[in-house]
Amino acid sequence: MMKKSKKEAENKINILGFSVDRVSMDEAVDAFGRLMKAENETMSLIVTPNSEILVSAEKNKALGDIIHSANLVIPDGIGLVYASKILGNPLSERVTGVDLLSRILEYLAERKQSIFLLGSKPAEGEAKAVCELAAEKMMQRYPGLVVAGTHHGYFKEEDEPAIIEEINRCGADFLCVALGSPKQEQFAWNNRAKLKPKVAIGVGGSLDVWAGTVKRAPEFYQKHGLEWLYRFAKQPSRYKRMAALPLFMIKVLFAGKK
Ligand code: UDP
Repeated sequence: MMKKSKKEAENKINILGFSVDRVSMDEAVDAFGRLMKAENETMSLIVTPNSEILVSAEKNKALGDIIHSANLVIPDGIGLVYASKILGNPLSERVTGVDLLSRILEYLAERKQSIFLLGSKPAEGEAKAVCELAAEKMMQRYPGLVVAGTHHGYFKEEDEPAIIEEINRCGADFLCVALGSPKQEQFAWNNRAKLKPKVAIGVGGSLDVWAGTVKRAPEFYQKHGLEWLYRFAKQPSRYKRMAALPLFMIKVLFAGKK
């Protein structure tokens, strides 16, 4: 794994024991570019934790270990920005996985580099697989971008070797894993020595947003850190997952006072 420079090591904030990179969007894109060019033997991993993921990583040791070891830990979630303010070490901005993915696509398109999309719902009846729809939209939006391959995210463990083989065979430079957390982080991390792309990122439901099967919150909600409220109004069944945000804030407050 690439050694982190002293400057990079200092540019972190500790939230609930996890070291999150204090990066703006531009800095995250620069860090991504360095990982793409690095001479690492194994694939690098970018994780995009929000409050919910950090709370579950406290209990799920495997996920926690991956966040500790990831090459870049992006503060995706308004909860992390609030937490950084409480901890007196404010993050400059929230860097969402879906926005970072767009910048990565732009980077890859400019260099004619390729991406593999893994995850989201398979084709059903007349409807195409979400990853294929996302691939079409991405190539329209970023001419020059090469989507080397796609595979839906509803596969069995025994199918993993064939999927890894498919990703490697198509020669993708970058791997986008959208299996939800912690599946996506575990898939990428556990197979990092076998996978040939230079870098992978876990992006949750971003392929649904690209395909248009899930709508992103309007800009007003995004600007004011209220995407969680919009999502809750659209999918009240997510209420259990949303309870992680206040729990996360309480944990940060208590941890900060110790
Ligand atoms: N997903 C998948 N395989 C699974 C479970 C989920 O490909 O076994 C996909 C799902 O279709 C969706 C994404 O993973 O596209 C997770 O979306 P969610 O909104 O839950 O992600 P998050 O909130 O973690 O960003």
